[in-house]
Amino acid sequence: MNRADAIGSLQEQPMLWDVLVIGGGATGLGVAVDAAARGLKTALVEQSDFAKGTSSRSTKLIHGGFRYLKQGNIALVRESLHERGLLLRNAPHLVHPLNFIVPCYQWWEAPYYGLGLKLYDWFAGGLGLQSSRQLERDEALGQLPNLQPAHLLGGIRYQDGQFDDARLAIALAQTATTLGATVVNYVCVVALLKKDGRVAGARVCDVESGKEFPLHARVVINATGVFTDAVRRMDEASAPPIIAASQGVHLVLPREFLGGNTAIMVPRTDDGRVLFIIPWEDRVLVGTTDTAVSEIPLEPRPLATEITFLLEHAAQYLANAPGRSDILSVTAGLRPLVKLPGAKSTAALPRDHVVLVSPGGLITIAGGKWTTYRKMAANAVDKAMAVAGLPTKPCVTESLRLADTRHRSGQSASETIASTSENGPRSRHLHPDLPLTADDVLHAARHEMARTVEDVLTRRSRSLLLDARAAMEAAPAVAALLTKGFGRGPVWEAEQVALFRELAQGYLPP
Ligand SMILES: Cc1cc2nc3c(=O)[nH]c(=O)nc-3n(C[C@H](O)[C@H](O)[C@H](O)COP(=O)(O)OP(=O)(O)OC[C@H]3O[C@@H](n4cnc5c(N)ncnc54)[C@H](O)[C@@H]3O)c2cc1C
Repeated sequence: MNRADAIGSLQEQPMLWDVLVIGGGATGLGVAVDAAARGLKTALVEQSDFAKGTSSRSTKLIHGGFRYLKQGNIALVRESLHERGLLLRNAPHLVHPLNFIVPCYQWWEAPYYGLGLKLYDWFAGGLGLQSSRQLERDEALGQLPNLQPAHLLGGIRYQDGQFDDARLAIALAQTATTLGATVVNYVCVVALLKKDGRVAGARVCDVESGKEFPLHARVVINATGVFTDAVRRMDEASAPPIIAASQGVHLVLPREFLGGNTAIMVPRTDDGRVLFIIPWEDRVLVGTTDTAVSEIPLEPRPLATEITFLLEHAAQYLANAPGRSDILSVTAGLRPLVKLPGAKSTAALPRDHVVLVSPGGLITIAGGKWTTYRKMAANAVDKAMAVAGLPTKPCVTESLRLADTRHRSGQSASETIASTSENGPRSRHLHPDLPLTADDVLHAARHEMARTVEDVLTRRSRSLLLDARAAMEAAPAVAALLTKGFGRGPVWEAEQVALFRELAQGYLPP
C-alpha cells in the first residue's frame, strides 16, 4: 500500500467510482474488501489512520458473545459464531483460538454456565472450536495460577477467538488493495456531492496537503462508526440520530497477573457486567466498562471511575491483585450502538447491525462488532448494488483468504529469520521493553501506509498499549526513522514526538 499512489488514483479525472466508502475501521475496510472482491471499482477514505476509531480499541476477541445468549439474542450469537469460524479459516495467521475459564465460586454457577456454554458450542455448528468442559478446582488453578483460590469450586473451560484488531484492519486494507480497491488514510469527507437530489459522491480533503477535491461515485457507503450521524446529516440535515455511544475501557498489565496462557471470563460481576482478564501479546488485558457518553471524540479518555471499577473487580478474581502503579497502559473506545428511532433502549439491540438507505440514496451501515464485520459488509454491498442499479454479483468473502501481514513485533515468519541472521542494527529493538525494531518502523511506513509516529507506535505496532511510558521513550527513535524515510525536516520530527507524547499521556492512568 502506497499513499502517494492512492492519492494519485483518487485524483485521476474524470473518474466514476462504483462504490465510495467513508470510514477505515472494521466496517468500512470490510465493505471495501467485499465490494472490490465483487469486481466493483471501489475507493475508501479514512479521515485519520486506519482503525484510529473504535476498531483499534476492542477487547480483541472474535467471539459469539456468551452474554448475548443470556439476553436471548440467539440469532446474533449464531451469526457471530459462524463468522468466528470463517475468520479462523480465512485468516489463521491473524486469529487464533484462546482458552477461557469461567471460574465458579457458587454451587449454581457450574451447572448454569456449563449448560449455557454447551449451547454456545452447539450454535457454532460445524465451525466450532474445542467443546467446553467442567474443570475441577485444581485443574482451574493449574491453568490460572493467579486465580483467587478462596471459595473456588471449579470452572468451565471453553474457547473463543483472539486477534490484534489494528493488525486485522491493516490486513483488510491490504486485501482490498490487492483486489484493486483504492484505500487511503488521512482523507476526510467534508461534504456529500448531490446530483438531482441523489448522493453522487463526496468532496474530500487530503489532510496532509490540505487540498480538497471531488470524488464521484455511483453509490456512497457511510461506515463511520460513532461518527455515523455526522455523515448522515451531510445528506439530510434533519436526520434523527441513530447512534448511542458507550465507552469501554481496558487496562493493560504485566503478564504475571494471569500466569498462564488462559483467559478469565466472568459472565456477571456483582453489578451485572461482563469482565474479561485476557492474555494478549506479552501482557494482560482487563476490561471492560460500559459508560454511556454524549461527546464523540476521536481520542476518548478513560474516566478515573472506570479504572477504579476495573481494578476493584480484577482484585476479586486475582490472588495477587494489581494496583494503579502496575498499569502499563489504559485505552478507551466508543461502541457505536444503534438506537433506532422508536426503539425503547440500546440494550434491546446491543450489537446488531443495521443497513439504512437515506432518501438521497446514502447507504449507512452501523452497529455490529468486529466479529461480524464480514457479514455487515456483505449486507451493505448487497444494498448498495441494488440502490445504485449495479448488476447483481454475489458476495465471495465467505472463502476469501485475507492478506498476510507482519507478526506481532511487525515481522512475518520469513522476515524474522532473515533479520535475526542479519543481526544488524535495524533488527535490534528500539526499546528494551518493546518488541519494535527499526525494520518494523520502515516496513510500516513503506508498505502499511503508516504516516506518523502515532500510527507506528499505536496501530502498526501496539507499543502504546503494551507500555505507554516505554512508547513515549521510543518516540524520538521512531520519529528520526520516519523523518529520514519521508524526507521531512527537524520541525516535523520534533512536532511528531511532541504530538505523540501528548497523546500517550492519556494512556497513563489519571
Ligand atoms: C471497548 C470495546 C470493546 C470491544 N470489543 C470487541 C470484541 O472483543 N470483539 C468484537 O467483535 N467487537 C468488539 N467491539 C466492537 C468493535 O470494536 C466495533 O463494533 C467496531 O470496531 C466498529 O468498527 P467501525 O468501522 O464501525 O467503526 P470505527 O472503527 O470507529 O471506524 C469508523 C471510522 O470512520 C472514520 N470517519 C469518521 N468520519 C469520517 C469522515 N468524515 N471522513 C472519513 N472518515 C471518517 C473514523 O475516523 C473512523 O476511523 C468492542 C468495542 C469497544 C468500544
